[in-house]
Amino acid sequence: MNYYLVAPAKTFHQTDNVLTYSSAEKLAIGQIVEIPLGKQSCIGIVTQKTEQPEFETKNIIRTIYEQPLPKHLTKALFWLANYYRCPLSSVVQAILPRGITKKRRNLTQSDTKTPSEPVANPLNEAQLRAIAEIESNSANTILLHGITGSGKTNIYIELAKRTLAKGQSIIILVPEIALTSQIVRNFQAHFQDIVILHSAQTESIRHQIWEKSLKSTEPQVVIGPRSALFAPVQNLGLIIIDEAHEPAYQQDQNPKYSALRLASIMSKTILGTATPLISDYYICEQHKAIVELNQLAIKNEKTAKISLIDLKERGNFSRSRFISRQLIESIQNSLQNHTQSLIFHNRRGSAPLTVCDQCGWQSLCDNCFLPLVLHADEFKMHCHTCGRSFPVPTSCPECHNASIHHKGFGTKAIEDEMHRLFPHAKIARFDADTDADQRLDKIYDQVHNGNYDIIIGTQMIAKGFDFPKLTTLGIIQADSQLSLPDFSSEERSYQLITQVIGRAKRGHQNSEIFIQSFQPEHQVIQYAIQNNYADFYHYLLEKRQKSKLPPYTFLLKLSMTYKTEAIVVKNIRALYKKIVRYAKAEQITQLAITPPMPAFHERTNSGYTWQIIVKAKSRTNLLKIFDIIDKSPYIHFALDPITLL
Ligand code: ADP
Ligand code: ZN
Ligand code: ZN
Repeated sequence: MNYYLVAPAKTFHQTDNVLTYSSAEKLAIGQIVEIPLGKQSCIGIVTQKTEQPEFETKNIIRTIYEQPLPKHLTKALFWLANYYRCPLSSVVQAILPRGITKKRRNLTQSDTKTPSEPVANPLNEAQLRAIAEIESNSANTILLHGITGSGKTNIYIELAKRTLAKGQSIIILVPEIALTSQIVRNFQAHFQDIVILHSAQTESIRHQIWEKSLKSTEPQVVIGPRSALFAPVQNLGLIIIDEAHEPAYQQDQNPKYSALRLASIMSKTILGTATPLISDYYICEQHKAIVELNQLAIKNEKTAKISLIDLKERGNFSRSRFISRQLIESIQNSLQNHTQSLIFHNRRGSAPLTVCDQCGWQSLCDNCFLPLVLHADEFKMHCHTCGRSFPVPTSCPECHNASIHHKGFGTKAIEDEMHRLFPHAKIARFDADTDADQRLDKIYDQVHNGNYDIIIGTQMIAKGFDFPKLTTLGIIQADSQLSLPDFSSEERSYQLITQVIGRAKRGHQNSEIFIQSFQPEHQVIQYAIQNNYADFYHYLLEKRQKSKLPPYTFLLKLSMTYKTEAIVVKNIRALYKKIVRYAKAEQITQLAITPPMPAFHERTNSGYTWQIIVKAKSRTNLLKIFDIIDKSPYIHFALDPITLL
């Protein structure tokens, strides 16, 4: 008889660990098996061979696949559970596809193959140099800091070819599905049989693709979102993470993880981005693992003139409440020249605030206690957090005056304004309210070909898309995110402004860029306009050091939610005392524990939320604190949170 430790996909009587089973057959590490668990059975992963234990063991029921999981995935299993303190069973569930025991019909050809259109872009000198630098660098994680338009995709393709030639597999991560189209199209032109994973695939299709990867002995090319890291490819040689600064690479449900960190423990990893996260840049700088690419792939003589417009100077806004005279004139010119204008604003709906001018009453969601957003076209108030909708108030429910005012503006208000200013223009709006069949990725060809004169959108339009006919670009309020009291606000603002400006700089035309802001002198806006990542980096790094934030510390955010404020305050104070006492008793140093305070969204339907932030220089010390906290349904935790709101 053989004995094995198995990581089950379910927890059993609160135990969340490997369990011992017996098997007459010899099994391999990483093999997927069905095991008895209590009165039921479940799936598990064989993690280790072991001696016969003193207690009685049950037999493994059967093996699901002959092929064991590749080594990088069994490594990921324990690493994730340990580094992020997430339940082992949740990691097993993330690694294995849903419905793995179900029989599936054979995968049809059309699910994996898509026709390719050839494009030939021989690598330019700068790209060749970047590849040489990447290949000669022995660091495990390398940051490819390449400006927008430097041709990073071309580099990814070449690296993929070289990896395949060595008989190794490669995984390319993209932040979201709308983006995949362009990278996928480029990769399809160069590779025969790529595996494409996305959220629109059914459970059955995903399972079959997964199974094909597991059984394949050939090196593979996989493209997908963060979960594509769990593709069971053999001999993984390289992971490329495109737009590596995107928050989509952070999973905030169990297993909670950062795809960047996970990737770098599984294989050599390249982080590609024009606007790296401060922490990633810092870590890679320490390891001398940054490759810079500052040259546009397509040389051009085109100019992009940037003007900064102060939203406080109302003289600029004589023709519209929120679109400056200068921007209007430029759009007018673009219309006359039959070119395009792109208007960016990171707020959807018509008006984000609805208030009573008499008594100060504010229209809030019954469920979330957050401001409701007016959607004038539907004549409804929407909650952008829980999705509920409410009627538009015509008089104040508190003081009964008819003094209801809608304040601020969202993309729908901008669309209305554009129709008013330019009644003959063809206008398209892209945001989360856009109908599925009118989304940018669906009608991209029409937009690309110039069928629309004015394009309005949220961050959706800022990413990856190419607008060759663009001559006017407007950012309606560049500081809209800067005022959020969070350590990542400035970084997110810098990224977004840079990305939006990048749409015009991809330059097929001379263009004019108008950046409207209430704080035009703000350093973040200045650095973004100058495309000055180096100074922005030092500016923010210094701030992070002063306030003991990443990359100088590791963070743990503990939140508690109870029905009443009194209970949450009482309990979180007790927790705070417990942590402080423990840290003192164990002499855990270089630790900062912020006293309990209300969360940014303090009140929701579930009650009141308060939080404690623990900052530690060493992750081991942070985890020591984490481990003494009782896990109750009232406590939520986030290790390495990307926001403290
Ligand atoms: P990035 O992702 O770095 O912003 P892309 O990979 O989208 O840039 O490339 C920008 C543009 O440059 C694309 O249109 C691409 O086809 C083109 N391009 C990239 N490399 C070359 C090259 N070596 N020769 C000609 N065109 C190139
Ligand atoms: Zn709500
Ligand atoms: Zn009122």
